[in-house]
Amino acid sequence: MRPKISIQNLYFTYSDETEALKNITIDIPENEVLVLFGPSRSGKSTLLRLLNRLSDLTENAKFQGAILFNDQDIFAPGVDVANLRRRVSMVFALPSPLPGSIQDNLTYGLKMAGIRDRALLEERVEDSLRQAALWDEVKDRLHHSAFALSGGQQQRLCIARSLALEPEVILLDNPTSGLDPISTSIVEDSLVELKQRYTIIMVPHSVQQMARVADRGAFLLDGELIEVDTPAALFTQPRDQRTEDYITGRFG
Ligand code: ADP
Ligand code: MG
Repeated sequence: MRPKISIQNLYFTYSDETEALKNITIDIPENEVLVLFGPSRSGKSTLLRLLNRLSDLTENAKFQGAILFNDQDIFAPGVDVANLRRRVSMVFALPSPLPGSIQDNLTYGLKMAGIRDRALLEERVEDSLRQAALWDEVKDRLHHSAFALSGGQQQRLCIARSLALEPEVILLDNPTSGLDPISTSIVEDSLVELKQRYTIIMVPHSVQQMARVADRGAFLLDGELIEVDTPAALFTQPRDQRTEDYITGRFG
């Protein structure tokens, strides 16, 4: 089966010559939850941002290698970057609702995309809220301000906002940072639901979160991909000593 995303010999260097990624190669199948973990500054966010070309916003960076999405090179000339970012959608760490109601948050992108049909908009609102495990909590106050929601609800609203645009891949950079344990667990459970329909690539809050949600964990260290495996294999029989040292907390 063809991978959903194929990363091939990827190098990325920031303008100050920081080599943030060195020769990363990995295939990500459809409906996988791949978790990119490792210490801070190991290149996790850089890699995530490359997958929908948010890296374009970084000036004077150098890039080598290839990223294929559905077999298409995302850096090929003529690629519609806005369309790519809708299909490979980033959910940011801090919940960032837009001003306006819960419903406005979910229909904003759809209206931008030219969808005006009220019934279709309402269907998408309900569908995306259900998928993000938020519907039951907000269905009676869709016209209330999104800022009145709790942190955990705001984060699920941001996930729902991505889902309303019917992406294929969801990128999440530490989506539960700043959330209490109960909200964290609700967001984690919703990820397990979402993988039925989407491919998910995320940076976790901790190694423990990687173990809870990942189909496979990819260990990054100093811009290198050290190893990729199931959480069970990473915990019980890591192939690289550095993976073992990191997982057992010998360095952070
Ligand atoms: P992580 O998400 O694993 O913490 P990052 O991808 O943010 O790691 O960073 C990887 C490396 O790239 C680090 O050395 C970091 O300092 C550097 N870096 C990240 N963003 C920038 C930037 N905008 N300009 C220059 N260097 C950066
Ligand atoms: Mg980061």
